[in-house]
Order: sequence, then C-alpha cells, then structure tokens
Amino acid sequence: MNLIEYHAKRLFGQHGIPVPAGELAYTPEEARTIAERLGGGTVVVKAQVLTGGRGKAGGVKLAHNPDEAEARARDILGLDIKGFTVHKVLVDPGVVIQDEIYLAILLDRAARRPMIMASAAGGMDIEAVAEETPEKIIKVHINPQIGVRTFHSTYIASRMALPQELWGQFHNVVTNLYDCFISNDASLTEINPLIIDGDGNLMAVDGKMTIDDNGLARHPELAELREADAETASEREARKHGINFIQLDGNIGCMVNGAGLAMTSMDVIKLFGGSPANFLDIGGGAKAEQVTAALRLILSDKNVEAVLINIFGGITRGDEVARGIIAALDQVDTKVPFVVRLAGTNATEGRAILADQNMTTAVTLSEAAQKAIAAAKGRGV
Ligand code: GDP
Ligand code: MN
Repeated sequence: MNLIEYHAKRLFGQHGIPVPAGELAYTPEEARTIAERLGGGTVVVKAQVLTGGRGKAGGVKLAHNPDEAEARARDILGLDIKGFTVHKVLVDPGVVIQDEIYLAILLDRAARRPMIMASAAGGMDIEAVAEETPEKIIKVHINPQIGVRTFHSTYIASRMALPQELWGQFHNVVTNLYDCFISNDASLTEINPLIIDGDGNLMAVDGKMTIDDNGLARHPELAELREADAETASEREARKHGINFIQLDGNIGCMVNGAGLAMTSMDVIKLFGGSPANFLDIGGGAKAEQVTAALRLILSDKNVEAVLINIFGGITRGDEVARGIIAALDQVDTKVPFVVRLAGTNATEGRAILADQNMTTAVTLSEAAQKAIAAAKGRGV
C-alpha cells in the first residue's frame, strides 16, 4: 500500500526528520486559509495523488500569497495526472532550495536486506540519472541485525561530496528514515528531494512510502490511510473477501484456487485463442461464501461471456467444492455459461454432483478452456 506525500512526510516528521509544516486542502478556499495560517508568505501547492512526476505534470506550483495559493489550488484540483484525479492538495510553506539530494531505503529482495539508495543528483530527473549515469546512484546494504551505523552514512555523504558540516544531520536523517522504514513494515521510504535549504540545513520536501500489505495487520492506523481511488471497486471488494483479483480486458471470467494455477489457466485460455477477463485466486478452502463473492466479482464485469472455474482439490475435497459452487450459483442470478474443471481429491464425485445440476464439467484444463471459449463464442453471435 502506497502513502501519499502528506502521510509519508507526517511519518517522517514523527521519526525526527525535518519536514515542512503543511496541511491538506480539499478546496481552493481551504488552500487560502492554510496559506494565511502559514504566515501569508510563499507556499507550494502540491497535488496529492499516488504517482510520481507531479512536478512535470503541473501538479506542483509555487504561490507567493494566499490569493495565489487559492488560484493555484483551483488549477491543480481536478487535474488528471497519469490517470489519477486530484481531489486534494498539500499546502506547504515555501523553502529556498540550494541543492536537491535523493535518499531512499528499500527492501532489496535479491540481497534479502534493506538497501540505502542515495544520489547527489536528486530532484525531478532522478529516473534519467539512474538510466544515463548510474554511477551517480550510491547503494549500500544494511545488515538488519546491526542497523544503520555512522560508517554507512559517512561513506554515502563523502561519495556524494556533501559538505562535511552536514554529515551529522545527514546521519540523523538516514538513521531516522531507517527507523521509520523498519517500525512501519515499509518496503520503501523515499525522500526526493532531500534539500539543503537557505540556512544550509537538510529538509525532506517530498516523501513516498510503501507499506508491506502483509504488515498492515500490525498497523491499523496506517491501514486507514489507504487512498479510496488507489484500487477499483472490484479490487476493494476482493480484498475484503481475501481474494486476489486483477481485472483484465478479455471475455472469459476465471475462478481458480492458487496463484500459479490461475496463471496457468490464463495461459491455456490464450493458447486456445481465448482471452481471460481477470486473474482470480480464491485461495485455499473455497468456502461457499468466498465462491459467491468471487462469482459476483467476475459477473460484475459486463464483458464476461463465459466463466471457467478451475479447482484442484488437495485438502479441499472436490465434492465439497462442487456443493459450494452450486450453493453460490443459487445466490447469483446469471445467464452466463459456466465450465467447471475439477481435479484432485474426490474430483469424480464432484463432477457427478455438478453434472446432476446440468453444469458443463471438464477433466483436463485444455478441455475446460476450449469448452469455455466455445461457450463464449456461442453467446457472442
Ligand atoms: P514530484 O515531481 O511528484 O516528485 O514532486 P516534488 O514534491 O518532488 O516536487 C517537484 C519539485 O518541485 C522539487 O524537485 C522541487 O524542485 C520543487 N519544489 C517542491 N517544493 C518546493 C518548495 O517548497 N520550494 C521550491 N522553491 N521548490 C519546491
Ligand atoms: Mn519528488
């Protein structure tokens, strides 16, 4: 789960990193009020959407007084930035920027440890820096049992040629960012830019944070910060029922137990010339209630012309799954044809139960995919 800049910087601030004292505005008038409260001087009005590159997209604007703050907020609110509509802006006190540094801590899965990434060439062109002059990006792995030590930050500061009088401050920022990363179960904490301000001090003027979804149970206060438009209505519904669901643009709905089997099912549908409407993994168990929720999700997509259910019974028994599917179909009113492939424990019994209810069944996945494609075509014409 990604946090918007405002929430990321608030967490940074709680961990002792200097951040501007800005507030969120949902209307141009609120932006004016905040600008007045901040002293009536220069502020920066910033789109709060879950995407980078806001500056280049016109989503970050300076305003020299409350009148201008209101006008800039009016410009930015409602903008579309890379598919995200701006519903709120952050009004931060303006700062003088002498220099822009990039600093991030992320989880390096390959190395199985956190990694500090830093560059003296921070700011809006960091992607170009990473691509064209990768030697300007400094990477340092952290042993999680030891944490950040002075030698880490000193090494980075010296390689960045950071003025030596800032090394102490820089060490504090790195240490605090690492604390923030660890204590919130983050997979990314990023400051771009970390600036040297007019007084020669470090300050985080942008912030990004990704929280590991599997850690959210330990941070209910963070789970509440999920942005409403970060996921579609279907994805939100799926998450509530513990279903992994990704909307695609084909016409064959898929309901599968297990992520690998779900991927395979999609591949086999494509192999026979069809096109999957979604990826859906109902996980283990396949209880009737979950199956019902999954079917509702699949059928809420108007492009779906046939549904392929592919269940491998391991601990879950095929006859139980069959009863679950029938119970679920009782609750969902649909004319869309279904093809069910059952394999594994008690699959034969399961298929008999389904055949009894006049449902199309299949033994192999190839057979099921071809039947589903044919059923979809039959409806299409
Ligand atoms: P991003 O483009 O989405 O990464 O948004 P940022 O928050 O990083 O802002 C983009 C750029 O705007 C920064 O790199 C800064 O150069 C500039 N900027 C942001 N805040 C301020 C500020 O308070 N004062 C000034 N002068 N520039 C700012
Ligand atoms: Mn930025």
